[in-house]
Amino acid sequence: MAKDDFIKMSTPKAIPACYQQTPIGELILYHNFRKRFQVYQQAQLLIGMCMDYRKQLRIPGNFAFIIRAGGANLRMSEFKVSYAIGVGGVSHIALIGHNHCGMVNIASRKQWFIDGLVERAGWKPEAARAHFDEFVQMFEIENEVQFILSEVKRLRKRYPKVTVAPMLYTVEDNKLHLLNEAAA
Ligand SMILES: [Zn+2]
Repeated sequence: MAKDDFIKMSTPKAIPACYQQTPIGELILYHNFRKRFQVYQQAQLLIGMCMDYRKQLRIPGNFAFIIRAGGANLRMSEFKVSYAIGVGGVSHIALIGHNHCGMVNIASRKQWFIDGLVERAGWKPEAARAHFDEFVQMFEIENEVQFILSEVKRLRKRYPKVTVAPMLYTVEDNKLHLLNEAAA
């Protein structure tokens, strides 16, 4: 991951003006800077993030809808996104990718995937291989940063009045950052 791929949120001042006083800025303050929790009656934003077990957000109750899917890929979750906006009342989406994501180059883990299903799930190797081959293209993201940026573009087009922020979670220090759209 290149250094200018993301804008490090190392102080609250690093939050760009366009996200300050918005649920995106609040999310960064809660998670990175341990801001005291406010009480919410209703969700403020939708968070899309990877299913990866190494990530946990520090956010108050009632603050956010969260959709977790491999690679923070929301292409198969569109109805849930629409629900969070239409019924849940949110106007902001934080799409959070992370480094060392398992959905990058899944092809390299094909044998591992097959062997694991055979051993732990009781599948036949042929069935596990067919399962992998059927879905790998749908879930492969190739590059964490580029994928989140392209997915954010898609979501902005689909939901033009919603603010969508591309973000990055670094698993070494468990911090949130903003992806640098200018560098893309
Ligand atoms: Zn991941």
